[in-house]
Amino acid sequence: MTDNRRIPQTRDDWQALAASLVEQGLENRAYLDDAFVDAADGATLTTTNPATGETLAEVASCDAADADRAVSAARRAFEGGAWSRLAPGKRKAVLLRLAELMAAHRHELALLDTLDMGKPVTSALGDMAGAIGCLRHHAESIDKLYGEVAPTGDDALGLVLREPLGVVASIVPWNFPLMMTAWKIAPALAAGNSVILKPSEKSPLSALRLASLAREAGLPRGVFQVLPGFGHSVGKALALSMDVDCLAFTGSTGVGKQLMQYAGQSNLKKVFLECGGKSPNLVFADCKDLDKVAEHAAAAIFHNQGEVCIAGSRLLVENSIREAFVEKVLAAAERMQPGDPLDPASFMGAIVDDTQHARILEYIRRGVEEGATLRTGGEATAVGGKGLFIPPTVFDGVTDAMAIGREEIFGPVLSVFGFDGEDEAVRLANDSDYGLAAGLWSQDIDRIMRVTRRLRSGQVFVNNWADMDQTVPFGGVKQSGNGRDKSHHSLEEYSDLKSVWMTLTP
Ligand code: NAD
Repeated sequence: MTDNRRIPQTRDDWQALAASLVEQGLENRAYLDDAFVDAADGATLTTTNPATGETLAEVASCDAADADRAVSAARRAFEGGAWSRLAPGKRKAVLLRLAELMAAHRHELALLDTLDMGKPVTSALGDMAGAIGCLRHHAESIDKLYGEVAPTGDDALGLVLREPLGVVASIVPWNFPLMMTAWKIAPALAAGNSVILKPSEKSPLSALRLASLAREAGLPRGVFQVLPGFGHSVGKALALSMDVDCLAFTGSTGVGKQLMQYAGQSNLKKVFLECGGKSPNLVFADCKDLDKVAEHAAAAIFHNQGEVCIAGSRLLVENSIREAFVEKVLAAAERMQPGDPLDPASFMGAIVDDTQHARILEYIRRGVEEGATLRTGGEATAVGGKGLFIPPTVFDGVTDAMAIGREEIFGPVLSVFGFDGEDEAVRLANDSDYGLAAGLWSQDIDRIMRVTRRLRSGQVFVNNWADMDQTVPFGGVKQSGNGRDKSHHSLEEYSDLKSVWMTLTP
């Protein structure tokens, strides 16, 4: 087992930890019905470090046969009741144990995400804090929720009970591999469901390590399983299964739409979606500290290489300050250049893979072609002579007719729009298929409330970008999705109401 007592401090420390993890052998098998196994047909997929091009592991690539086995095991576990009917306080104890194990191994888990998908290790450690906090939050809340007694007359007793759904398939993306996993599995497990996790084919390693920690924590057989593999294969099989009760998905809007169709073609399972975004960040001229706002506006898009669902990818600036403000954003972007993901000082890391790298560069090409002004970045770069890196890229003079102004790029590309007055700001902000997040920078409380109410968005950040914790729900409106992660509201996604009406003799 990795020695997590020694906290890596430097790039050399992280490199040494990475070398020792690889030498010990990374878990590359599926976790199915309490055993680590190869895919039924022996198929594998290759996972690669995008910062170096090196192969990390050949990982089991599950398909429909593995999905069927996992669904049967999950159903057996659910009907058996060892978890689903366990007293909430006892489920809490197991989940808190899992949180402790994750905390003890947080450096290893963070490193696996960094190696797999290229994010800076400092940022991956931040994700671990989020993932562990999420697990603790739901574990702690589950034995504090009460049912309801309906306001009946003396001749009846009406009870409203909350019950787990059954078998939940969680399908997650690669941009925050373990944190998105925690947002899904923590409330689903806390509510008493059996959970099958399908990590992204681009970042399966931390989920497989999590499986062994879940086993060590004492989750009963079949209650938590991990099936690595491709979306069109094992993901589709789970989505079409007649015995999965809920699909909890985080990923692109296109795949989210497919999942709703699969549910309609199969058993009408509940589909709970967290999808893409093209989030507007509105800066009004009355802001006091424009240097600070510019720093936040740059971080809102360049954090995690722009591979963030709530990236502040559309910067809407009041025209009276636009020129000066864009200069400040460019200065901030200059300080956010990509570096070695294993260097704790790096702000940006590598782009997840060739496909995403090429897609981002294609959007940049289209931005230039469509007439936006490229102010910085725009060309692929390398770190230490290798890897898939793209520097902070800023376009000014973007309009809502341009692809870079409308479509989710999912990379470090900022599109700047100018506006005059609140009405135009709100019109531009809402002129999107998406409605995930919006930012609003102003000192005028009346304006803040007026504009906040008019924004069609799952969350609004006022004088910050993405400062949130577990206590508030996270999710989108319009084509950004239909569910909520985090807070006690996410427990509602993973449970059903049962009404019980008892006739009494008064
Ligand atoms: P993606 O939609 O390509 O893949 C997400 C997951 O779905 C992966 O595990 C993939 O294997 C699986 N999948 C793909 N096709 C499938 C199919 N036909 N059937 C079943 N499963 C299938 O998304 P991605 O590229 O991994 O992630 C980026 C997207 O995720 C962006 O659009 C981003 O905005 C979104 N995202 C949203 C949130 C949020 O909370 N709203 C958070 C993170 C990422």
